[in-house]
Amino acid sequence: MPSEPPSPSISDFVESNRLMPPGTPFPGLVDLSLTPYAREWMDNMAPYSGIQHQAILKAAQVAATFAIENIIGYWMKELPAAIMYMSGSRELLEEWGTKRLEPMIDSMGIRDLIISQAEQTFSKSSRRTGDKMYSKQFIGGFLKLVSAQAAASQRSDSIRVLIRDETDSAPAELKTGEGDYMTVSAARTKFFGERKKITDLSTPTTYDQSVIFPLYENGDRREYRVPCPLCGKYQPLYWLPEEGNFGLRADTTAGMIISAYYLCDYCHDAIFDTKKRDMFNAGKWEPTAESESKPFRSYQINSLYSPPGTVSWLNYYNEWKVSKGKPEKMRGFTNLYGGWPFREQGFRPKAEKILELRGTYKAGTVPSGVLFLTIGADVQSGKVKHSEITESEIKEFLADPKNNPDELPRIEMEILGVGAGYRTWSIDYKVFYGRVDNAYSGAWEKIYKWAEDTNMEFYRADGFMFYPKLMFFDSGDGNLRSVVYQFTGRGWSACYPIKGQGEMKRQKNEKVIGDEISELDALQFRHNTIGDQVLYTIATNYYKRHIYNNLNTKRINARVQNPGFCDFPREYGKAGPYENYFKMLTAEEQLLNQTFHAGSRRNEALDCRVYSLCASDVWLRSNVAQLRREYVSKGATKKEAEKFTTATFLAALIVQTKNQEYYKNDLN
Ligand SMILES: [Zn+2]
Repeated sequence: MPSEPPSPSISDFVESNRLMPPGTPFPGLVDLSLTPYAREWMDNMAPYSGIQHQAILKAAQVAATFAIENIIGYWMKELPAAIMYMSGSRELLEEWGTKRLEPMIDSMGIRDLIISQAEQTFSKSSRRTGDKMYSKQFIGGFLKLVSAQAAASQRSDSIRVLIRDETDSAPAELKTGEGDYMTVSAARTKFFGERKKITDLSTPTTYDQSVIFPLYENGDRREYRVPCPLCGKYQPLYWLPEEGNFGLRADTTAGMIISAYYLCDYCHDAIFDTKKRDMFNAGKWEPTAESESKPFRSYQINSLYSPPGTVSWLNYYNEWKVSKGKPEKMRGFTNLYGGWPFREQGFRPKAEKILELRGTYKAGTVPSGVLFLTIGADVQSGKVKHSEITESEIKEFLADPKNNPDELPRIEMEILGVGAGYRTWSIDYKVFYGRVDNAYSGAWEKIYKWAEDTNMEFYRADGFMFYPKLMFFDSGDGNLRSVVYQFTGRGWSACYPIKGQGEMKRQKNEKVIGDEISELDALQFRHNTIGDQVLYTIATNYYKRHIYNNLNTKRINARVQNPGFCDFPREYGKAGPYENYFKMLTAEEQLLNQTFHAGSRRNEALDCRVYSLCASDVWLRSNVAQLRREYVSKGATKKEAEKFTTATFLAALIVQTKNQEYYKNDLN
């Protein structure tokens, strides 16, 4: 335990204690004159400050992450305490742990204070499969690293210093409702009362989704005012270029932007970013609103304040220029450069528009063009209190219009028809209510009965019969996997549990089904064998992008639609069981970073489509791979076998399903 009293100022402490190693953007002793606005964020978190909570709504490259590293380092070294660092996602947590925390520990000379490193390193061998949690013990305290996902399940030690980073990147379901991770984690600082220290910071997402933005609004909304080098008047640097008679401008020669400058709001003279350092050092944070409580402050900052040597005003202007008028890009610019949430406009397909895609065929029937069927099913546990609900209780619950059926455990399922040229037809969408924890009762039993009654046969108008080739059931976090297996054990051969994962990168030398067909670096799915059980992991973002792109394919006035077209039965979107179908299919917002957020909207139809579409890829690729192997075993060379492609296989299916007439233009 340090014997001297702790430094009163975290910023002063950092400037005399932290040595940035070579290879970092600003090596040598920490120099806060590059980012003097970060001082207040640090000093608010010192024990002598009356501020208990701050929220920072920020753009990229504004030293906020740097400030929180310093806060943590200070509390580890100067006044050891119970510290928790929380990140919105597991991936970001891991990145922060390896790229920021460990170097900070070394650059502040606090490695020696850490007691046991053995089981807490970031090495591969210590990685656990479920939620990740790391901790560092030191005399008088500890530092815990958790993700928002793990926040609720954590043992509840009291925490004095709580840092919640990238709050907006947390999965949507953790942001609202009873167990939202912000409320759960804040509760852990209660024991410390007025001595608690909380910093929340994030690059925002959208007004709908942002966690940091409402916090900012409840605070005193500080802006950083800097003096004009020409007239001396204080003003904040306004984020959006070319607005009004002040702000960022650029000079263009022959279509090339050659320089950017900032017009003073008072003297309207041009300020160049070579003056940044002086302006920033003479700057000060000013509140623009009254905070909901005195010990709570909030801040907003954009990348015009990035330290010299990072984002220049010219970079900033260029980025705005290429984003302007393109909503997808403007969203990213607004969040990452402006540091403001984006107003959601047209980043998810409009449900009303998709209604136009609805065809004239009847749900449950197979239109011409369909070559094969797959099934994707989403298993929903519903509210815990309904987990063992009986059939009669379900009837009673659904009979009362005041009740929300989404609270019930259930399995939602899409039967998908797949054609050539990435055309799809939704054949039917079903919801089976009932408990989902037992393969012999509840919703599972209902599916079993339904399959028995229908024999899983689907018919085209001419009587041609189809049945699903492959069925994917979402097994959630894994707790339902064994139930899916039990269900498969009831005589369902082509039925597999799956789990979704946003993105998937191919691991070194990794092979998946049909690899001779695709050599992409990003995987669309992965197939793992655990014991004698198979599990498919699906890159959900890939399929969601694919679906959203294809939903743009407009219906044409012809019997045969264009490649990529998604067709839907005439009942979808109308009253009854299909009423919310299109709303669910378009529930998620596609963010600029290509991830998806559902918010509090129901998205089961989209999930089911992701699974049924992936099932169709798996089935196609397995068939092609199998046929190639057969050719080789019959004496063909590998090269000869490779002439057999997905297209050849689809062409064969066209003949087999008597769809030559439908595809005659495609085949030419
Ligand atoms: Zn001026």
